[in-house]
Amino acid sequence: MADLYLYNTMSRQKMLFEPLDPTEVKLYTCGPTVYNYAHIGNLRTYVFEDILRRVLEWNGYPVKHVMNITDVGHLTSDADEGEDKMLKGAKREKKTVWDIAEKYTQAFLEDMDRLNLLMPHIKPKATDHIDTMIDQIKQLEANGLTYTAGGNVYFDTSKFADYGKLAQLDKQELQAGARIEVDPNKKNPHDFVLWFTKSKFEDQEMQWNSPWGKGYPGWHIECSAMSMKYLGKQMDIHCGGIDHIPVHHTNEIAQAEGATNLKPWVLYWMHGNFLVLGKDEKMAKSADNFLKLDVLIGKGYGPLDYRYFCLQAHYRKELVFSWYALDAAKTGLRRLREKVCNLGDTEGEIHQSRMEQFEKAINDDLNMPEALAEAWELLDDSDISDADKLATIKKFDTVLGLKLDEPIAFELPPQIEQWIVERNEARDNKDWGKADEIRDKIQASGKWIVKDGQSGTEVMPK
Ligand code: AMP
Ligand code: ZN
Repeated sequence: MADLYLYNTMSRQKMLFEPLDPTEVKLYTCGPTVYNYAHIGNLRTYVFEDILRRVLEWNGYPVKHVMNITDVGHLTSDADEGEDKMLKGAKREKKTVWDIAEKYTQAFLEDMDRLNLLMPHIKPKATDHIDTMIDQIKQLEANGLTYTAGGNVYFDTSKFADYGKLAQLDKQELQAGARIEVDPNKKNPHDFVLWFTKSKFEDQEMQWNSPWGKGYPGWHIECSAMSMKYLGKQMDIHCGGIDHIPVHHTNEIAQAEGATNLKPWVLYWMHGNFLVLGKDEKMAKSADNFLKLDVLIGKGYGPLDYRYFCLQAHYRKELVFSWYALDAAKTGLRRLREKVCNLGDTEGEIHQSRMEQFEKAINDDLNMPEALAEAWELLDDSDISDADKLATIKKFDTVLGLKLDEPIAFELPPQIEQWIVERNEARDNKDWGKADEIRDKIQASGKWIVKDGQSGTEVMPK
């Protein structure tokens, strides 16, 4: 098995991947909060996580992939402040929170499918696991890590020795309280809610009975509780976007390790950098810069054009979105598919040294820009037969996920259709001069190429 190196946010370096159990790699990716459509920024993170899973599978590791669906408890600020996101969605559309959750879960799964993202094996919904969360909070309480104030149950960060290690929040900062404090119940600025009973939202529809009174869970507890239910007390890899490092994942670690006393809970933490609109501008689900996949599709881009666009940047680098860059990605993908289409149908052998080069790129912390370059080089290599190229590119595509061998859909202008008919007639009549003349006419614009296939004249985009 080849060496796979992954960048671990915890150690701030690339590390050789050594799973807890090579027969089942345990992967947890933080899923969507289903109060609105995912924007293409969110989707960039899911593309990165999909590539990670495909690379693990390329390396021969069977993966058990869990992704949560957040349908309760997530406030607009990750740190227990602001409005409840689900309520916000329900008010906006005058529906129940349950309807909102159902609608946007389905929309999200459809986006996943369109982007050719592998489905997680388990997609637990937070509202189906309230008991699991209550059990973990009870465990934290038994371990002396909680307190109750103003009706809410809080995690006491001062009792958890290395709180903040993922984000490298130093003690000084923790004590000074770098954040603006708005909740007077908190003993320490970084403490966070495990269970709300005194809801700030009187119209909160989702409430459950608990040992601390009727209420609902804080956002962070769902991931530590549900991941342990399905993956056990330790896992190999946990992912999300970089915004999760200082609060959500930091709090997940405190909950998980605080409950089990087993460290480390997660062996490799991996985070995807942001998709931004302009200089340092974040993509948000607010009106004017809310780009969802449907907006791209409405403008004539395919979902896989966006996937290709994402693969052109390393996942740890910020990626700036522009229509110009998306156009370039669309053209790039189209050309790549045409090259594959022109290889014919016969599959030969996988080209070993090309495959090793590709593997070197993906195993170097998922270097997809390099991997894409390898795909182009393979197709342009005149020393390799078409049949071997086809076998090799199909293997590459198990990681790229670009459906490179699917037939390309394109429309021929009516004039070209007419010329094809005329040319086939000329060929049937063995009028080779006329057939050549029509071929030249079709190719004259530089947009089309003509081939003689089994069923006559074939025209493809150049
Ligand atoms: P949410 O549905 O808001 O919980 O976010 C889903 C995922 O998208 C999380 O892993 C976030 O870290 C990630 N995310 C949010 N905004 C962006 C962005 N602009 N670019 C990339 N990832 C993002
Ligand atoms: Zn999470």
